[in-house]
Amino acid sequence: MIIVPASPNHPQSHPQPQKGDDKMKKDKKLVYKISCMNCNKCCIGETGREKNTRRKEHQKDIKSTSNSSNLVKHVIEHKHFFNFNQVETLTLENNWTRRIIKKSLYTHESLSQSLNDVKFKLNILQ
Ligand SMILES: [Zn+2]
Repeated sequence: MIIVPASPNHPQSHPQPQKGDDKMKKDKKLVYKISCMNCNKCCIGETGREKNTRRKEHQKDIKSTSNSSNLVKHVIEHKHFFNFNQVETLTLENNWTRRIIKKSLYTHESLSQSLNDVKFKLNILQ
C-alpha cells in the first residue's frame, strides 16, 4: 500500500520554541483525542501545530458554529460538551504521512466511539 499525501502541510524548517513551561499544552505535531463529557464519543484529530492552538480552534468553531466539523455537529445536535481542558496526546509524530496513518489507526481502534471521518480508509485485512 502506498499513500501519497495530497497536500503535505508541514514547513520543512521552523525553529523550536525554547520555552519549557506548560509542556503538555505545547505538544506539537501530534495525534490527539478530545472526549465528550456527556457520552462516550470522542474526536480524534491531528495537527502539525501546537495542541493548544488546535484546541482553541475547536473552541472557536463551536462558538461560531460556522464550521460543520463532526465535533461541532455533535455539540449542536446533542447539546453536549467536549472536555477541552483535557486534550489527550495519543502520539507525537513529526512526519505528516505517518501522523495521518496513526490517526486513522487510532480512529479505527476507537470503533464506533470516534466522530471522525478517516482521510484514508485502511483496508489491511481485505
Ligand atoms: Zn456526546
